[in-house]
Amino acid sequence: MASRLAKIAGLAAAGAAVGTLLLAERARPLRKQTREALPRLARNGAMGAACQAVIMVSEGPITEAIAQENKRRKRGLQHAIGGWPGRIAAVLLMDYTYYLWHVATHKVPFLWRFHRVHHLDPDMDMSTAVRFHAADMLISTPMRMLQVRISGADPETHNLWRGFFLGSVLFHHSNLRLPESVDAALANVVTTPRLHGIHHSQRLDEMDSNWSAGFTLWDKLHGTLRTDVPQEEITIGVDDPLAERDIALLPALQAPFREARETDEFAPS
Ligand SMILES: [Zn+2]
Repeated sequence: MASRLAKIAGLAAAGAAVGTLLLAERARPLRKQTREALPRLARNGAMGAACQAVIMVSEGPITEAIAQENKRRKRGLQHAIGGWPGRIAAVLLMDYTYYLWHVATHKVPFLWRFHRVHHLDPDMDMSTAVRFHAADMLISTPMRMLQVRISGADPETHNLWRGFFLGSVLFHHSNLRLPESVDAALANVVTTPRLHGIHHSQRLDEMDSNWSAGFTLWDKLHGTLRTDVPQEEITIGVDDPLAERDIALLPALQAPFREARETDEFAPS
């Protein structure tokens, strides 16, 4: 009963945090939006719902089963270290492998076809965080399985990481204008809206930076952290000749398949 109440309280707190962020990004926008809000929100929301449906029948139960096995057999990094240091190590390993996966989704043409759909959004706010191609959820499942297996995350650690990852992704895609000093202080530890705005730039040299999904440590270690681009100079989106046509819902869903050869031609490398 108590754990059920704690779960409900946790969900309510998370819902309140997301609601506050949704209001805040509208009250204090970081970048001027270039398109009408409602069609974008509807489109991104529909894509997010499709992704969630795919996750619920594939990645979700599969990674949960692996995490259960990690706990039962006491295997993987978390259990090799043990205790809270083990949990922290497992979370860090999952965060780092996500950094590597994100780089791969830009650099491997087949993966870029799908990740491009996320970057096609011509404005960026919290709804961009859920704008992914549903097939992307299937394509990333083997990576997620490997991630959970080698980190040895048990279900509790896996949920901890999931909460951190989701919160971070919603936060850094948001269009929230934090005071510059606050954004800069946070950027020492986690990816912020300003940092991720640079990653969503149409310019390749700007897009090729700030890949971290959670901790900015990985960008620092790889020398890929960029803080020097003012937000008003950024044009959000993808700079290829097919981008404008592919923004809408149906073309976006078809693009990775229909335009395979054409899109590869413009893949950033
Ligand atoms: Zn990206």
